[in-house]
Amino acid sequence: MDELSQQAFLNHIGGEWVACASGATAPNLNPADSADVVGRFQQSDATDGARAVAAAAAAFPAWRDTPISKRAAILFRAAQLLEDRADSVARELTREEGKGLALARDEVLRSAQTLRFYAVEGQSFTGETFVNDDPDMVVYSQREPLGVVTVISPWNFPISIPARKIAPALITGNTVVFKPSSDAPLSGYRLAQALIEAGLPPGVLNFVTGPASKVGQAITTAPAVRAISFTGSTSAGEQIHRGAGLTTRTQMELGGKNPLIVLADADLDRAVDLAVKGGFSLSGQACTGTSRLLVDRKVLPAFTEKLLARMAKLTIGNGLEGNFDLGPLATRKQLDTVLSYIALGKQEATHLIGGERLDGPGFERGYYVTPALFTDVTQQMRIAREEIFGPVLALIAVDGYDEAIACANDTEYGLAAAIATRDARYAHRFARDIQAGTVKINRTTTGNLINAPFGGLKSSSTSTFRESGRVGLEFYTQIKTVYRAG
Ligand code: NAD
Repeated sequence: MDELSQQAFLNHIGGEWVACASGATAPNLNPADSADVVGRFQQSDATDGARAVAAAAAAFPAWRDTPISKRAAILFRAAQLLEDRADSVARELTREEGKGLALARDEVLRSAQTLRFYAVEGQSFTGETFVNDDPDMVVYSQREPLGVVTVISPWNFPISIPARKIAPALITGNTVVFKPSSDAPLSGYRLAQALIEAGLPPGVLNFVTGPASKVGQAITTAPAVRAISFTGSTSAGEQIHRGAGLTTRTQMELGGKNPLIVLADADLDRAVDLAVKGGFSLSGQACTGTSRLLVDRKVLPAFTEKLLARMAKLTIGNGLEGNFDLGPLATRKQLDTVLSYIALGKQEATHLIGGERLDGPGFERGYYVTPALFTDVTQQMRIAREEIFGPVLALIAVDGYDEAIACANDTEYGLAAAIATRDARYAHRFARDIQAGTVKINRTTTGNLINAPFGGLKSSSTSTFRESGRVGLEFYTQIKTVYRAG
């Protein structure tokens, strides 16, 4: 037990670090060693949620009127604080979530970069002027903040996802209620702490932790909440979206069942690389992670052989103790879900490798599952249709491009999709034919730029507003059109 294990982290409401109304806390567990407590966090309920919304509403008028250069300066300072602390924040991220240290550090630095990006972009994000027939009249649109914005984030990118929501919300003059996932709340706490230390006035950013069942409704259905930016599962997103009021905007970034198509002309070594990196980085727990491999029947045996050889060499372990290809799954619930899909896969399809729970020396108290591969999978099977969110890949044989596209699009989801081909014709057709918000040609389904739009199609998103990039600012502003004469 170290100091962190015993520390109780507080909510931040109206400028004060406070305990929740009930006084209850819950442990944040290390998925590599479930006996390791990574801090205790407040079990907030509706009372705390309502206080956070009220504090954000009270702080809004003054923050809206704060000069944008001052708002930007706070984001720049917070970015610097995060960079200065990158090593320790990355270690905590690995300890609470399980991803490798290098990935964790990249995520922290990316979050700092996101704060800077929006500090700059927000300062030139304006309306338009419109030509008209009346020489005495000027017509223009102006963008204004919405008010209180609720930010709800998942555990798999526990600092970069909140950063890409909170930064555009703040720079455009909104105030925020932020609830991180209870399964990795410390990284979100560090982000909030950096922003608060950088000089945010009281009430501008409110941080509450706790179970969605207790605090969720208060921060999503209150009339003062003008927008909700949520990333998480499709079921939770749909519930929040339906419960939101008429004047509450929603941006829901949800699940995926992302395909990688391997055409007969593809460089197979490269295609295997895309499958392994896309499918198993973050132990298969990226929303854009590859889960279906749609491989042309002509190259399926060769591709499968190469993939099996690569998978046999993958290493798995505690990210704090070494540089491993895979870490543990992030929670006990994830472990159970993934193991149940592996059991199902063994009934539905042909199991080729992996899928074992590791419990030998060093693994006893961690949620480790070896990367799994199934073949003879068809689009009708549940392992090809449902989001597993673990290190499980399904091989589906296809005959040519048209069948591959039909299979790829035969899903309720549309988050990311990739194709491996050397034929430029198919690369262009793919970008047009595929139903996915992120399209990759000879690149992994995972990964997206800070400065480019990000979001899904179909049930992977509400498709209302895109996140990320300059376009990510739109969600946090409303437009007024002004006609001014004389
Ligand atoms: P989750 O839906 O269980 O939880 C996400 C967040 O929502 C958590 O903070 C949770 O406490 C909160 N929440 C859940 N129900 C709520 C409710 N009714 N009211 C208010 N808050 C509520 O998801 P998770 O297990 O944390 O994350 C994994 C999921 O996230 C996967 O489905 C994955 O695909 C998705 N994801 C999507 C993206 C994307 O950009 N599309 C990115 C990362 C993860």
